[in-house]
Amino acid sequence: MKSGMVYFVGAGPGDIDLITVKGKQALQEADVVIFDRLINPFLLTAVRDDAKLIYCGKQPCKHTLRQEDIQKEILIHARKGKTVVRLKGGDPAVFGRVGEEVELLAEHRIAYEIIPGITAGIAATMYSGVPITHRKHSNSFAVVTGHGSKDDGTPNVEWGPLAKGVETIVFYMGVKHLRTITTELIKNGKEKDTAALVVQWGTYSKQRTVEGSLATIANKVKQANITNPAIIVVGDVAKLRSKLAWFDNKQLSGRGVLIPSKTEMNQQLVKSLKVNGADVYEHNLLTQVENIGSEQVNQITQLSKEQQLVFLSTQSVYTFLRALGENDLDLRKIESPIYAIDNAVKATLQMLGIQSSLASICELQSPVLIGGDVEIESMRLEYPKWKEELVLTKHKVSQKDIEAFNRLIEEQHVNTLLVTSSKEAIQLVTFLKLSGIEKDSVINTLNVVCRGIETSLILEAAKIPVKRFREGENIMTVIREEETVLAVES
Ligand code: SAH
Repeated sequence: MKSGMVYFVGAGPGDIDLITVKGKQALQEADVVIFDRLINPFLLTAVRDDAKLIYCGKQPCKHTLRQEDIQKEILIHARKGKTVVRLKGGDPAVFGRVGEEVELLAEHRIAYEIIPGITAGIAATMYSGVPITHRKHSNSFAVVTGHGSKDDGTPNVEWGPLAKGVETIVFYMGVKHLRTITTELIKNGKEKDTAALVVQWGTYSKQRTVEGSLATIANKVKQANITNPAIIVVGDVAKLRSKLAWFDNKQLSGRGVLIPSKTEMNQQLVKSLKVNGADVYEHNLLTQVENIGSEQVNQITQLSKEQQLVFLSTQSVYTFLRALGENDLDLRKIESPIYAIDNAVKATLQMLGIQSSLASICELQSPVLIGGDVEIESMRLEYPKWKEELVLTKHKVSQKDIEAFNRLIEEQHVNTLLVTSSKEAIQLVTFLKLSGIEKDSVINTLNVVCRGIETSLILEAAKIPVKRFREGENIMTVIREEETVLAVES
């Protein structure tokens, strides 16, 4: 049996792209992924369809997975020879208990690697406009836990040396004890007017920052109702935020946008949403399974001259030709005239030496549509009267996509569902149907915005109320005008 391997992977602080290349590769290889609450759930879409996902946060009707249970899970799967990824927020070694988890593996002689991540204390600080070190303002920094092992949870640190010896101090898990922290620092020698700031949900679009001094920050944070996850930064370097802030206060700050597929077509749109400060998740909700059978291909070759073959996508052309080849069939045996649904498909056919006409389906007498299930489904809505079709590819939903979708919504990382085409609308509706996700959980929490009348008709037929944006209308404005900004309470 192959021996197991465990990767401890730092998922980064939140922004979906702040994971290392090496960390992402490990995720893609994993058989089992054991993940924490504070990771960006969209990272789960990178895992294989058949990977097992284990959540360590609060499960429905259960408690958080205890540390012993997490370690047990890692061990069980590694011993079965699996590749296990233990995915942790930020960096695994910064208040991430990696030491304890690794110790157990070392005892059991199980191979492991630790892949560092970007820790919240440095990243969230920088995203609030504050470099953690600065030649003039900060020659040293310390990361300190704000949650200690004392009975009341207050941190057990040596306040004197910390207050006097370190210029910039970053507290993790400290919001609850902020008042104790500021009082102790002042008592032990830090000036009352030392700058302090608190950053919540750092590096996400919904990041919030509260600025003040050691004397004022606790009250300000309470007023702003900031809760975990947040870091506290103490040190005069924090004053630089007023000059250097670069991330927050963009046009679309506080907006999380979910698009139900990833396509070339949306590249420009996605880029401008991101540049303007939104978190954008292009979520391919459906996984494709090729399933063309030899019987079906045979049938096609026996169609008559009176029937017209209509290719619905370039991919359907390739899949069809491959299936012909695999079944020892010859395209020249097909007598039916060939049509393409659009110019791109026509060009693909032409490149392969196949002449076709552009199809206007309603004018064809007996079209046979060739394409994937989603393409065919969307055509059916437009042209209900055709009878024959060849479904080349089918789709299914996978656990990782359901998990990522649910968590993005539950943990309030998205507030807008942006559906940019009728095909995407069908994908979304199919996904909800196949996954069993209650439509209400989506429409009660998200604003649905869509492009094009057809798209809105499909969504409305599935009882998903939409706000449509018209050609020429700026999607940015539509999303900005949405009333709900992401809630930031944890
Ligand atoms: N290993 C993680 C820290 C885990 S402890 C890391 O290296 O970042 C959890 C604490 O990290 C939270 O209570 C909070 O203080 C901090 N934290 C994690 N993600 C954060 C974020 N996006 N913004 C602000 N603080 C964050």
